[in-house]
Amino acid sequence: LLSVTGLHKSFGENQVLKGIDFTVHAGEVVALIGPSGSGKTTALRCLNGLEVPQAGTVAFNGGPEVSFSAKTTAKQAQVLRRRSAMVFQGHHLFPHLTVLQNVTVGPLEVQKRERGEVMEQAAKLLERVGLSAKADAYPNSLSGGQQQRVGIVRALMLKPDLLLFDEPTSALDPELVGEVLVVIKELAQEGWSMVLVTHELAFARDVADTVVFMDGGVVVETGPAAKVLGAPSNPRTQGFVQRLL
Ligand code: ATP
Repeated sequence: LLSVTGLHKSFGENQVLKGIDFTVHAGEVVALIGPSGSGKTTALRCLNGLEVPQAGTVAFNGGPEVSFSAKTTAKQAQVLRRRSAMVFQGHHLFPHLTVLQNVTVGPLEVQKRERGEVMEQAAKLLERVGLSAKADAYPNSLSGGQQQRVGIVRALMLKPDLLLFDEPTSALDPELVGEVLVVIKELAQEGWSMVLVTHELAFARDVADTVVFMDGGVVVETGPAAKVLGAPSNPRTQGFVQRLL
């Protein structure tokens, strides 16, 4: 579905990605893990053009494909958004729009889809995450877990081939984490392709097919989740996993 090769990204002098490679197959769940500051979020954001790397390639099977250089513009990178949708850490809903408006504005205004079909899809998806009753509510009246479930619906509404999750539970109170992880796990079981940045290693072990361990802007180890989290071969991965799992 997606291959990422040789991604380099610097912010000024700070070289954050130093040549990142990984692949996502259709139906696969890939978890990006690693210490704080290792570049996980930056790598994820490069996949849909929210960050523009200075070198490397992000290629979706059947397009789009972007080969980055120092001259690549934000607009050129944005073509990647045709195939993926991002779920952010939280608090990314439009505060002045209702839940229903939040999840339908992209399909209606950007994708220019037919209103009836969009409303029907929204009703189904809100029901599936248990939020039908909140369709006309504003985000600030929802709990963090509810807001995050709306964020997931908003991403699904775009009918992407790939879902990107940026630490979807890190802004949540501990008692709300579970309800969001359940939804993500169900989507994984349904066969959605996803890349998730997460600090929840137990969750990664549970849902991910493949784990990519990053440290210092490089991929240190990649492999099946059970292997990388259960019996890692690299000492840096071992140290990280032992501390957190
Ligand atoms: P965490 O687990 O703490 O979220 P991470 O592995 O996701 O960390 P990134 O968020 O990708 O790491 O950040 C990696 C480095 O890039 C950090 O040093 C950060 O300060 C820097 N960085 C990220 N975004 C920007 C930006 N927009 N401008 C400048 N520096 C940035």
